[in-house]
Formats: sequence, structure tokens, C-alpha cells
Amino acid sequence: MIVVLTGAPGAGKGTQAELLAKRGGFKKLSTGDALRKHVKAGTSIGKLAGAVMERGELVSDELLFSILREELALLSEGELILLDGYPRNIAQAEALDSLKSTHPVKAAILLDVPRQELVARLSGRRVCGGCGATYHVKEQPSKVAGICDKCGGELSQRPDDSPSSVNVRLDIYEKATRPVLEYYRKHGVFREVVGVGDPESIYGVLRDTISGF
Ligand code: AMP
Repeated sequence: MIVVLTGAPGAGKGTQAELLAKRGGFKKLSTGDALRKHVKAGTSIGKLAGAVMERGELVSDELLFSILREELALLSEGELILLDGYPRNIAQAEALDSLKSTHPVKAAILLDVPRQELVARLSGRRVCGGCGATYHVKEQPSKVAGICDKCGGELSQRPDDSPSSVNVRLDIYEKATRPVLEYYRKHGVFREVVGVGDPESIYGVLRDTISGF
């Protein structure tokens, strides 16, 4: 069973997916994380995807579907899966539906955040190269600038969080991903959750929304 967590880049999908995995009994599957692992490991997929990701564009649907199946195969059957970052367009939503005999979509939840707030969040985001912890230069700074509180690793900006890539990603979201919301609305599995505010309160609403299905 799959719950799709959707929303623009910077909406907080990663943070909420983390909380749902820790406390809500979900297995988190993030296609962005899977791709970044390939890039870091220098695999052939990573080489194909890396430059596209840096520009903030979408990697090909074929490559993503094969990554999705690969990641799903690593999880046990009957697992409750939280999908973060897929589908990002209608073709991907249809591809996911082709797996419905084993992986039906139970719910699709939008974390809704205004664009102005998204730009501020993404441009200030810093990520630890060691453990992957995320910070924000203004909202959630590390104790020592540039150093991770958790593991002492070095913090840096994701290449696709640069101002030019952020705008490309938000435009692609509006054009390609927003129609997916309507797709799930028509399937009767769509809900919206306000993604602005304290992450704990957002988590509470999100968890109750998912339980309502
Ligand atoms: P994310 O961490 O979800 O923001 O993903 C980072 C980048 O990985 C995106 O900007 C895309 O370049 C690529 N990516 C992740 N998921 C997908 C997807 N479902 N379709 C196409 N590209 C993706």
C-alpha cells in the first residue's frame, strides 16, 4: 500500500516523510534520495542523472520508473510505503498505477506551501555531507556555522538549491506536477494539508489525514 506525499520542492516532504517513517510505521521511499545515492556512488544511472538534477530539471520517466521498481523490490510485501518525490507528472502517475495489483495508492496528500515561502526555504537550506541532516541558515542554523551539530560533517548547499535551479524546479512543479493533484482528486484519494508552521503540528494533521483513509 502506497501513500504519495506530494508538494513543491521545499514543501517539507522530506522532513514529514522522516517523521512518518520514525513514528508512523511507514517505509520512506524518496526518488530524490535514491538518485543522489547513485550520483554519490558514481553509477551509470548517477552519471546520466547528475547534470539534469543540478539544473533542477526532471530525470527521464523511464529511468525513474526503473529506480522506483528497484527500490520497491527492496521492501517487503505488505509494507506501508510513503512515496516522496514520485510521481512528478501524469505519465509517472500512470506508470505507478500499472503496479496497482501489488502497490495500490491508498492516498495522495499535498503539502501546500506558497511559492514565496518555498524560495526562502530552499535558498537557505544547508545539508550535511556526512549524515544528510538539514539546516536553514536563518530558521534552523547549526550551532557552529557550516558544521553539522549531529556528526561534525561539513554543511553545504545542494547544487539544485542555487537560485537559478530553484526557479526552474518551481516552474516545473507548476507545469508538470500540479496536474497530478487533479489526477488523484479524480481517483478520490486526494487531500491537502497546510505545510506552513511548526513541523510537529503539520505532522499531527498529516498523520490524522492519512488515518482517515
Ligand atoms: P527531490 O529530492 O525530490 O527534490 O529530487 C531531486 C531531483 O531529483 C529533482 O530535482 C529531479 O531532478 C530528480 N528527481 C527526483 N524524483 C524525480 C521524479 N519522480 N522524476 C524526475 N526526476 C526526479
